[in-house]
Amino acid sequence: MITKTLTSTRCGSSKLTRNGKTKADKQKFHCQACGCYGTLAPDYGYSEGRKAEILRACHERSSLRRLERTFGVARQTVAAWLKKSP
Ligand SMILES: [Zn+2]
Repeated sequence: MITKTLTSTRCGSSKLTRNGKTKADKQKFHCQACGCYGTLAPDYGYSEGRKAEILRACHERSSLRRLERTFGVARQTVAAWLKKSP
């Protein structure tokens, strides 16, 4: 299990307190810096290496449906990655 530094998805602060879980067992937080409440970005369980591999294939072939079949990764997940790293 990798311990990650929790940061607010809204303001980027790491001054968070855990605030229970969602129904999908995602960690929720309360940010002490700005007072916001939120849910941490879900961890889909892909390593950075695998993510990079999938994204590279995505740029080469550019068919999300094909990637979905090849890698068994939901195309919504890949689409979300693409938005974050153009
Ligand atoms: Zn905040």
